[in-house]
Parts: sequence; C-alpha cells; structure tokens
Amino acid sequence: MMVAEKMVELGTKKSTIRTIFEFGQKRAQEVGRENIFDFSLGNPNIPAPPFIKQAILDILEECEPMEIHGYTVAPGDPGVRTALSKSINNRFNINISEKNLFLTAGAAAAITVTFKALCEEGDEFVAFAPFFPEYRCFVESVGGKLTVVPARIEDFQIDFDAFSRCLSPRTKAVIVNSPNNPSGVVYSLETIQKLTDLLREREKEFGHPIFLISDEPYREIAYDGVEVPYLTKYYRNTIVCYSYSKSFSLPGERIGYILVPNEVADFERVYGAIAGAARVLTHVNAPSLFQRVIARCADMKPDLSAYEKNGKLLYQGLTEAGFTCVRPQGAFYLFPRALEQDDYAFCERARKYDLLLVPGTDFGCPGHFRAAYCVKTEMIERSLPLFRKLAEEYRCQ
Ligand code: PLP
Repeated sequence: MMVAEKMVELGTKKSTIRTIFEFGQKRAQEVGRENIFDFSLGNPNIPAPPFIKQAILDILEECEPMEIHGYTVAPGDPGVRTALSKSINNRFNINISEKNLFLTAGAAAAITVTFKALCEEGDEFVAFAPFFPEYRCFVESVGGKLTVVPARIEDFQIDFDAFSRCLSPRTKAVIVNSPNNPSGVVYSLETIQKLTDLLREREKEFGHPIFLISDEPYREIAYDGVEVPYLTKYYRNTIVCYSYSKSFSLPGERIGYILVPNEVADFERVYGAIAGAARVLTHVNAPSLFQRVIARCADMKPDLSAYEKNGKLLYQGLTEAGFTCVRPQGAFYLFPRALEQDDYAFCERARKYDLLLVPGTDFGCPGHFRAAYCVKTEMIERSLPLFRKLAEEYRCQ
C-alpha cells in the first residue's frame, strides 16, 4: 500500500530508549523489578506536588463544567495567560502580557509549532550536541534542516569556533536547552553573552533576524543556587518554549507555552505565524483543565530537592568508580564518558549488570552515555556496586 514512507519509518523504527525499555520489562519478569536498574527514562519520579491536586479539586468544585472542559480560544484562555504573564514578570523581571503567550501541549508542541512558524523552504536550524533527539524529527517534519554543532566535551558549554562555522545565511534559528538534557549542564552567563554577541553580529552580516529558541522544561531544576539566565533579557529575537512536564511532574497532562516578547522582530507576524502553525498542526487549544491548574499554581515552588540529592549521589558514585563526568548543575541527567569509544557496545555490556543506560550517539555525542536519575535514591545506592564492577571489568581486560 502506498503510504508516506517517512512516516512509516518514524512510526515503526524502535528508538533506542524503547528497545531498552522492552529489555527492562523482559528482564524484570526473570529477575524481579527491584533488580533492574533503569536509568533510561526522563520521566519525573517525584509525584506532582499536593497543590496541583488541590487546584484540580478546587476547579472541579468552583467552575462550570462548560468552562472546565470546553474549547478555549486557540492561544489559551485570556485570564489564564494574564495570570501566567504576571507570574513570569515577577519571577524574571521582564514585562510581558497575555498577548505574548501562546499555551501549548507541552514543550514538544511548543518547539514544533515554533519551528513550523519560522521555517521557509531551505531554512536551517542549529542545535548543540549533545541535544534532545526529537529536535531532528521536529525540524525535518516542517521541511527544515538540522545543523548540529559538535560538543565541547570538557564542560558541555559551547565550542564557539565550531558554532560560528555552522551559521549560514540560511540559518533561521538556533535552539538551546539549559539546564540540558542529556548533559545536566547550565549555560553560564559568559556562554550566553558570547552566544548572543555572535548572533547579533551574524544578523547584521546576513541582514535578517536569527531567532534564539530557548527550550527550557528544566528551568526550575538547577542546583547550588546556579543562575539560569533568562534569555529574552540578553537577546531581542528570543522565543521561549516552556513546559510544566518536569517542574510540576505533569508530563502526561501536556501543558506548556510559547513566549514571544514584543521586542521580537516583526512581533505581530511571528505571533500570527505561531497561531497559523498551531492551526495546521491541529492544536485547537492546550488542555483546558490544565490551563486553569497552571494559572492557579503559577507562583508555587515545588520541592525538587530529591533530584539534587540523587544527582550528587550518582555523580560521586560514578566518579569514585573511575568514570569521567561533568558535574551536574541541573535537570536530572548525567552524561559520563563511556568506558570504550563505542557507546552502544558499552551500554550493551552494562546491561549484563541490569544497568539500563542510553548511548550518547542518540544525542549526537558518541563515546558517552546518559543516566537519568529521576529514580528512587535507594535504586541509585544499590546500583553503585554494579557500576564499580562494570568499571573493574574494563580495567581488567
Ligand atoms: N525538550 C527537552 C530538552 C526535553 O528533555 C523534553 C522531554 O523530555 C521535551 C523538550 C519535551 O517535553 P514535553 O513533555 O513538555 O513535551
């Protein structure tokens, strides 16, 4: 039957993470779930905070069903956007209104809609390795080309020489993700300043805007008081894609937003294109109940300290076992060097110990692996002797 081959490929090719997950399910039946050390998934293990449940109950109690479950206008309920804009202004000391927000079904939708809104035939979008693998699928789905800047593996900040070579007159946007999945790194103020200086220079040279898309579902998950710069303050043509999946542990509820500041070049047309892109991607509106939930909880601060504790424990355990790893500053991932250059072979070997890890090649950074530590602390504690045995096996060969 004639169907879109590309869609068949995307829909049937098993992702590495999916394959690992299935392996884990099978092994769990053989040896018991508690003996599987699954570090493969970025699914928050902290339950949604109690204020979320309370907000849901209050909304169900106080609002009319038509209001709770009905369609909203496509950008999201105006009252909800007003509440969010006030909270964002207070927290980041900026000046937006409801007109600058477009609510979406999480960051995945926010990013895809933004790509589609910006992309013209032949446009290029630049990402920095290691990067969230879905970017490639999102960019290509709208007819764009993803250009990947190789990683600066000593600290996972930006290799500016390599970045500079990746910019061309066809560059439409650059996407950054800090705190980062999979490296756990937060871009320093110095990195942000250099990045935005270079973009301004190239905008002038090429004679058109280069948008900076800030994909930031992990903004609130940052450790030791590290500052996560708010990018709209450093660069005029910034578009923020935010999600409540991680900060409020609501990944299944699909809620987030796109923020387009007034300063963005041709603001009206960019915001209009976002609405148009959302329309053809059949967005209709972001989930109605959860629009209201996040409006009521916008100023709340969830307790995310378990991630920090887990990150430190795993980092210390792995470095003591002999792994080399950039210290975690945020999100809930470590991205250590694999103990052999072939990261697939390394992850395969780790599976012998029922340690489920994701090869770095999947994130555009071979020779590394990702360990997601949004898991029970006790599982990390029990896994450390196994990581030590794995490292020992390499030392003895
Ligand atoms: N961007 C990054 C860097 C992510 O890690 C994820 C999810 O893991 C997403 C976007 C998508 O998140 P959402 O659930 O909001 O669609």
